[in-house]
Amino acid sequence: MSNPPIVVTGSTGFIAKHIIAELLRRGHAVRGTLRNVSKADDVRRAVTRAGADPAALTFAVADLLSDDGWDDALSGAQYVIHSASPFPIQQPDNPDDVIQPARDGTLRVLKAATRAGASRVVVTSSTVAIFYGVTKREDELYSETDFTDETRDGLTPYIRSKIIAEKAAFEFSRTTPNAPEIVAINPGFVHGPALDADLSTSHELFVLMARGIYPAAPRIRFPVAHVHDVAIAHAEALFRPNLNGQRYLIAEGESGLYGLGQIMARELPDLANKAPKFELPDMAVRALSVVDKRMRTILPELGQHKRFTNAKARADLGIAFHSADDAVRQSVLSLRERKLI
Ligand code: NDP
Repeated sequence: MSNPPIVVTGSTGFIAKHIIAELLRRGHAVRGTLRNVSKADDVRRAVTRAGADPAALTFAVADLLSDDGWDDALSGAQYVIHSASPFPIQQPDNPDDVIQPARDGTLRVLKAATRAGASRVVVTSSTVAIFYGVTKREDELYSETDFTDETRDGLTPYIRSKIIAEKAAFEFSRTTPNAPEIVAINPGFVHGPALDADLSTSHELFVLMARGIYPAAPRIRFPVAHVHDVAIAHAEALFRPNLNGQRYLIAEGESGLYGLGQIMARELPDLANKAPKFELPDMAVRALSVVDKRMRTILPELGQHKRFTNAKARADLGIAFHSADDAVRQSVLSLRERKLI
């Protein structure tokens, strides 16, 4: 009998499409979940663009906010990648809009995976679930041993959603009989080729930037991950032995809004005058945040550098990281190829 398909939740997502392509290229069958079945053909086309044959790709309909469909989606599954979670470019007024699907959706997936007898679920978390728990000295490195404290003031609903969902997954696995093993993949800000026009926040940022919406940039920095490294990390984490309970920081190098703009300007000189021209003094950002509430979420990050190590992912998952510059360059070029910027 052939192996059951690997289930990938949120198959319509930017990262999930790359994960699915990676799994198909490796010869696995994949069952992708989506909440809107009309997007199935778009996913098939996207993975084909990524060099994969979609013949072994099937779909199941399920929403993170409802119990319906998850048992069918996970039936027979041994291995699951849970990637679906809201990643809005603008933070919602009601934090539960993102926290509920992230936490309750993760638990729905894990309960259905347990009923199906799955042996391992790889959960897409984020570096935001690592970096906001403790403040380190400049010479100390963040790593997988650091956990964001979700009760800390000033965290965005999205950041809270990621740490709450990750903790819920590990807790479920620890306390539920016959629960699957859990491995978390914690990527930085993910860049790389957009496979279609259904854009993630990663790429929407450039669409806004290309309209000149950021004449200047706040002094914020974030770790960057290449989507191919993120996809490989998920695929490797499914099958390598002795990974239960582990988390993996997937990022190489850092950038900021200004740095992203510089790469866009370098690769697409016609957009150079749309990129941020300079970095705003922190005091100016604080003043602007009084009238623009989107700015408030970044106030704790102004001027911060997050120095980190990705040694564990290199050693355990065999990831040879692409550079941040390469990842961002590929985002920009793919958006131009699709005439989106
Ligand atoms: P996308 O916005 O492209 O994908 C999000 C996916 O989640 C989509 O498939 C979306 O489905 C699905 N989703 C959202 N809400 C629900 C719901 N209620 N029920 C079912 N599915 C839902 O984002 P990314 O690909 O960038 O992100 C994927 C994952 O990676 C997320 O968990 C995100 O937190 C994480 N991540 C992303 C990073 C990045 O920089 N992009 C960095 C670190 C982690 P639909 O198409 O129907 O909206």
